[in-house]
Amino acid sequence: MTVRIGIVGCLGRMGQALANEVRATAECVLAGGTEAPGHAGIGKDWGEAAGLGRLGLTVGDDAAALFRASDVVMDFTAPAAAVAHAEIAAAQGKALVSGTTGLSPEQEERVRAAAAKAAIVRAANFSLGVNLLLALTERAAALLDPAFDIEIVEMHHRHKVDAPSGTALALGRAAAKGRGVDLAKVSERGRDGVTGARGRGAIGFAALRGGDVAGEHTVIFAADGERIELGHRAGTRQIFARGAVRAARWVAGKPPGLYGMAEVLGL
Ligand code: NAD
Repeated sequence: MTVRIGIVGCLGRMGQALANEVRATAECVLAGGTEAPGHAGIGKDWGEAAGLGRLGLTVGDDAAALFRASDVVMDFTAPAAAVAHAEIAAAQGKALVSGTTGLSPEQEERVRAAAAKAAIVRAANFSLGVNLLLALTERAAALLDPAFDIEIVEMHHRHKVDAPSGTALALGRAAAKGRGVDLAKVSERGRDGVTGARGRGAIGFAALRGGDVAGEHTVIFAADGERIELGHRAGTRQIFARGAVRAARWVAGKPPGLYGMAEVLGL
């Protein structure tokens, strides 16, 4: 069965990577793409605006129309848009692959609520390697006692607007789950100045920004006299696009619900 895939935010960095991946995947076709209201690319040929050569699809600004024309829509945009798109998916009962990060707890709750009426795959990171890293982090945290301090370090390109990254927070949640604690109660973020000593059992975060780094994450377990590091380096954002297209093919036709990459990948 051919899956018709729509891409909101189609001229963004991920939007373009997704378009390339959909075009390279058998049994998938591009249904169309939208951009933010007022974006200079609206009304232009999507491929020409993205420097990919003519695609024969015009960049639109009507998300509801794009959902109607698609079996699955992929959203890598911005937090407010991600919520609006999840609510359109719910109104139309359409499947959604949602990868936007930086949502507030209230915005995440609205996406969760939308999943009562739409099949939504939501992940902070769609790469296979990072999803394995999440599983390994949970396991290591379960095996190591709190004498091992957990620190999560991430680095991303200079354009990234949210910190720590959604993946770093997901790694923190995996570590907290392994330890049987609530991340909100143990996380230490944005240390600056005289912060006092590190809390026992804390999970710390540090964010670096620069260059064109697609995404690097390291989970450090540091005790007196020894240290374990589990890490992942993304060399290209195409790995996220590949996982997202896999998720789109998996979720097409699924009943409403909130799904994760662990289910898509059968981890
Ligand atoms: P980007 O800024 O290059 O692209 C975002 C695009 O969305 C822009 O073109 C913007 O104009 C568009 N947009 C904003 N509001 C819109 C709206 N209402 N309707 C349609 N389009 C809209 O950013 P990016 O690097 O592509 O990342 C986008 C998001 O995806 C970020 O939150 C990022 O953290 C996340 N991301 C997630 C993963 C993952 O695996 N989950 C991987 C990479 C990036």
